[in-house]
Formats: sequence, structure tokens, C-alpha cells
Amino acid sequence: MGEEVTIDNFSNWLRDCASVLHENAAYLTELDSAIGDADHGANMDRGFQAIVTVLDETPFDSPDELLRKSGMTLVSKVGGASGPLYGTFFLRFGTALAGVTPITAEAVGKALHAGVEGVLARGKPERGDKTMYDAWAPALDAYDAAVAGGAGLAAALTAAADASAIGRDETIPMVARKGRASYLGERSAGHQDPGATSTTLILESAARTLP
Ligand code: ADP
Ligand code: MG
Repeated sequence: MGEEVTIDNFSNWLRDCASVLHENAAYLTELDSAIGDADHGANMDRGFQAIVTVLDETPFDSPDELLRKSGMTLVSKVGGASGPLYGTFFLRFGTALAGVTPITAEAVGKALHAGVEGVLARGKPERGDKTMYDAWAPALDAYDAAVAGGAGLAAALTAAADASAIGRDETIPMVARKGRASYLGERSAGHQDPGATSTTLILESAARTLP
């Protein structure tokens, strides 16, 4: 289909994430106040606003450079669990795209897998632990299935975002086994995981901006 993701698409994705995470900051913090320390919205907002500043100030020659710098910005500007986790996601996502032209749906799929491998390496989450991985894992499965079935980038990313929303909702009854929420034990059940919620926002943004 001649689809190709450009550096402008990736830049638009990060800027769109920044605005969506800003709009949802109070909501994410409210979710984190139930089972964490009420900072997830502020963390994500601060991290992505810092990325916007970097994008405004720095000319980038390639998607991998732009995405790796964005990942490093999240690692350095966001404390807590989510900064290193999302930072590693974008670092590895970008690294997977180094030298890749054109960037097709298959290439984006490989980059998503590489990014989530980074989340796994950092946080050691398993499915059912009530973390962002419960939104990432079904998203990868849906993305792969869509591409295998002949879908283009737009349909594959929409499938991934939809699957991540289901995974996000499925965190509600889970008992947390990773991160701060795990300190609550059984009392963490009945609350939606903040990180799974931000992951879904990031994937919904990708479906809007990358194709
Ligand atoms: P902190 O928990 O340090 O305050 P945030 O509130 O910004 O950091 O992020 C919390 C989110 O991070 C959780 O909702 C969860 O999705 C995610 N998270 C925490 N620990 C892990 C982990 N070990 N693996 C994957 N995700 C994790
Ligand atoms: Mg928190």
C-alpha cells in the first residue's frame, strides 16, 4: 500500500501523547491515589511536556534519534516506576527503527515488541500482575494478528489500542503483584491500574497519528 511512517508522524505522536496525557493528568492521578501515591498523572504530564520542549528545541535527522532522545528524557525527568519503564519503551522502540527504511507496519510491530521487551526487562511484570503490561501484552497480540491477516498500519494500531483498552479494564479485579499497588495486597482489587490506563492512551494516540 506504500504506507510509510515518517519522522513527522513520530513527532506528532509524541506531541499528541503530551496533550492527551496533560488532559488526563487529573484522572491518572486519581486512579493512582486509590492504589498508589497519586502521582501518575503528574509524572506522565511532566515527562511528556519535557519531550515537547526537546522536540521544539532540537532538529532530529531520524526517527530513531528522536525516539531515543524522548525515551532518555522520560528516564531523566520522571521519577518513580513509570519514567524508567516508559523511557525504556521509547528507547528500545527507537533503537529498533535505526536504519530501517521504509518504516512499514511490520517495522512498527517489531519496534513495539522491542519496546515492550524493555518494559519486561526493567519491571519483570507478568500478565495478571495488574500493571501496564496487562495493556501492552494484548495490544501486541492484536497488532500481530492484524498484520498477519493483511491489515495495514491504521487497522493494526486500532486493533492494538482496542485490545489494550480491554486489557486495561481487566486490571480492575486484579490483585497487584508489582509496584506500589502490590503493597495493598487484596485491597488493590476493584481499582483500574493507572499505568495500564496511560498505555492505552499512548496506543490510541499512535492509532491517530502514525498512519
Ligand atoms: P510510582 O508507582 O513509582 O509512583 P507511577 O505512579 O508513575 O510510579 O506509575 C505507576 C504504574 O507503573 C503502575 O500503575 C503500573 O502500571 C506501573 N508499574 C509499576 N511497577 C511496575 C513493574 N514492575 N512492571 C510494569 N509496570 C509497573
Ligand atoms: Mg505513583
